[in-house]
Amino acid sequence: MLPIKPILNSKKSFLLIAGPCSAENKKQLFETAQLLTKTSQIDMFRCGIWKPRSSPDSFEGIGKKALPWLKEIETNYKIPVCIEIATAKHLELAIKAGIQHFWLGARTSVNPFSVQEIASASQGLENISIMIKNPVSPDLRLWYGNFERFAKAGIQKMAAIYRGFATGKIQLYRNDPAWKFLIEFKRVYKEIPVYCDPSHIAGKRKYLYEIAQKSLLLDVDGLMIEVHPTPNKALSDKEQQLSLSGLDKLLNKLIIPSKNDVNTDNNTLKKYREHLDIIDNELFHLLAKRFDIIKEIALYKKENKIAVLQIHRWDEVRNNILQTATQLNMDVSLVEMILSLLHETSIQYQEQIIRKLSSEPLT
Ligand code: PEP
Ligand code: MN
Repeated sequence: MLPIKPILNSKKSFLLIAGPCSAENKKQLFETAQLLTKTSQIDMFRCGIWKPRSSPDSFEGIGKKALPWLKEIETNYKIPVCIEIATAKHLELAIKAGIQHFWLGARTSVNPFSVQEIASASQGLENISIMIKNPVSPDLRLWYGNFERFAKAGIQKMAAIYRGFATGKIQLYRNDPAWKFLIEFKRVYKEIPVYCDPSHIAGKRKYLYEIAQKSLLLDVDGLMIEVHPTPNKALSDKEQQLSLSGLDKLLNKLIIPSKNDVNTDNNTLKKYREHLDIIDNELFHLLAKRFDIIKEIALYKKENKIAVLQIHRWDEVRNNILQTATQLNMDVSLVEMILSLLHETSIQYQEQIIRKLSSEPLT
């Protein structure tokens, strides 16, 4: 367990961080801050002043010039401000300007040298808070290591930001949410709050609601959302930034689950769960029996030189189960997924048994 403290002194169990992708000029920054603090219930103002862009010809951020503006926003609108830092120099400049909340972007958190450089530079700055986005590729160990590096440097105010993963494939969203990694992160580091960044997962405004809602139902502790007074004119990420009214509409639509502990003293849930545990138990006993038979079949196939894959048999099994699933009103595509996993693992199991029985080292 890492020694973690909340990044803000707020009692709220759900944090909303919002602001533009990039600081573009003083007017845009102040206009966004003013509207955000007037209408939406935001807890922290975000903006990027050093932008990690793929192309050197893209807008790479306004740089340190924006630091005093951000400090002014913090004071005038009484809202904590956070910015992205990617080098020890960024941290040093921001600290000098009085900024104390930071996040590491996905292109920084992928590089242990960069992370270590910033972590070492943060030694002794106990009051700062660091949020760490997941690395661009789904390497959870790398992400965990980032928290460990900052913990070793004495930083306790930490949080994680989940922003999905690059795949290089053409897909609906800009980044693959691959929610199983969020679940795994939460399981391993239960003490670290996790915020979801639906803007960078979605890539397009129209997908923001479904992503944000899904993350909330996966019990995230807050959201980081990109907002711009005129999104279509934004200098970066214009397709995913929300207008101020867009943010309000989104917030009104979202169901935010309560953070009350549902695991104790809830008899209704307790009963359902007991029932579920019995079913899971039976299910896994049955699966174990299924694998015992698969083993017998593998031995028989080996003795009689029969191929593991018998395509007609597989077709027959598949059709029968899908028919049953339809009769039971089950989601057929889900059943198909389970079936193919079952078939794939059975093939692998048989193949391993046969190979092991006849394995002699190659010379
Ligand atoms: C950002 O938050 O503006 C950003 C660059 O995000 P990410 O690091 O997730 O790509
Ligand atoms: Mn952005």
